[in-house]
Amino acid sequence: MVNAQRVKKYFKENRDKLRTEVIALTTEMVKEKTVNVVSEKLGEHPYLKFRGEEYKVGNIVKKFLDKIDVQYDEYARMEGRPNIICGIGKNENGKRLLMPAHMDIVPAGEGWDTDPFEVVEKDGMLIGRGTLDNKGPLASILVAGKVLKNMGLDQEINGQLMIAALADEEAEDPDGIDYGIGYLMEEGFIEPTWAVIPDIGENMKRIDIAEKGRTVFKISAQGKQAHGSTPERGVNAVFMMARLVNEIEKMKFNYEVHDVLGHPSLNLGEMHGGAAPNIVPGTCDILIDIRTVPGMTKDGVVSQLQECIDKVENGDFKIKVMSWNEPHAISPDNEIVDAIKKHSKDVLGIDPEPFGMGGGTYAKTLNMKNVLAVGFGPGDDTAFHVANEYVEIDQLIDFALVTCLLSLDLLA
Ligand SMILES: [Zn+2]
Repeated sequence: MVNAQRVKKYFKENRDKLRTEVIALTTEMVKEKTVNVVSEKLGEHPYLKFRGEEYKVGNIVKKFLDKIDVQYDEYARMEGRPNIICGIGKNENGKRLLMPAHMDIVPAGEGWDTDPFEVVEKDGMLIGRGTLDNKGPLASILVAGKVLKNMGLDQEINGQLMIAALADEEAEDPDGIDYGIGYLMEEGFIEPTWAVIPDIGENMKRIDIAEKGRTVFKISAQGKQAHGSTPERGVNAVFMMARLVNEIEKMKFNYEVHDVLGHPSLNLGEMHGGAAPNIVPGTCDILIDIRTVPGMTKDGVVSQLQECIDKVENGDFKIKVMSWNEPHAISPDNEIVDAIKKHSKDVLGIDPEPFGMGGGTYAKTLNMKNVLAVGFGPGDDTAFHVANEYVEIDQLIDFALVTCLLSLDLLA
């Protein structure tokens, strides 16, 4: 209790200094274009030599940790895509709280009012690609680590706060090879007791305890090319696909409503076909994103898509599962949810509510490996993956304080 009071007092007295520090660190990291896309799209980003290039942010993290004299481990499945993990605390009681944030980002995309890679401070917000997802929160937990270390509180923590700057969160190649949390867990490099993943937004008002399964299906239509002036000699794959798309839009999933996750969802996100107006297109592809709830299986979803295909007369289609992962849900009655609720109420005056979401975070991978993991963190959930991404600076500071209090409480 005494230590919690000391930390709160420190944050109160040094808030301006902490603010400056978080802004500087976030700005430095946002400058680095650690864009992660699937291999197929790498060509659209000529400034990238390989996916992610997370080492560019990794170097900033390592420099920061060196400066505050905290040792770290570096794990990389391939050179240039490191995961950097440090432990604050004596690591004596076997209890470890993992706070992971990812260093990769999605592409900037269109529609920005300012340079996406130059942080702009406006109305108490930081604007730029990655300010929220996930470099701002990464700066916040690093600063929390610094405060604990500088105050000597690392010597008061019997367990360990594991601050982790990770690779490969934003894109998954069809080969399924993971360079971030999946790699670390598979290899057994880390064994956390709990994890809090600051990658959901919700302005620290909700705690993510369940996530839908994230799946991507590709369906290809096979037609026959011909000259555009003699369409009767060909088979138009785009028309064929259009008939299938109609069926898919009408499709009703077989499932049971989940008490936290609710209903599954389907998005037709991409459609590609045709090369010129005077050619009958020979192929057409669509990509569908389906978010599943517990009880839905890969075979079940494929057979429903196949039923749609069977309804298209003279159709010739192929289905390919591009990615599949299971939905997950944990009970809201556990010590990590309780601790988050307690300290949020104390610091922010908010009592966050457990909920389930359609997006995915590291929590899924961790829960599947029996680590009690939840999503909780700063920022507005509508600011992810959009132009003019932003995060509220005050929330980054408050989250750093909550991180310190959680560590002192759970790991003491
Ligand atoms: Zn993210």
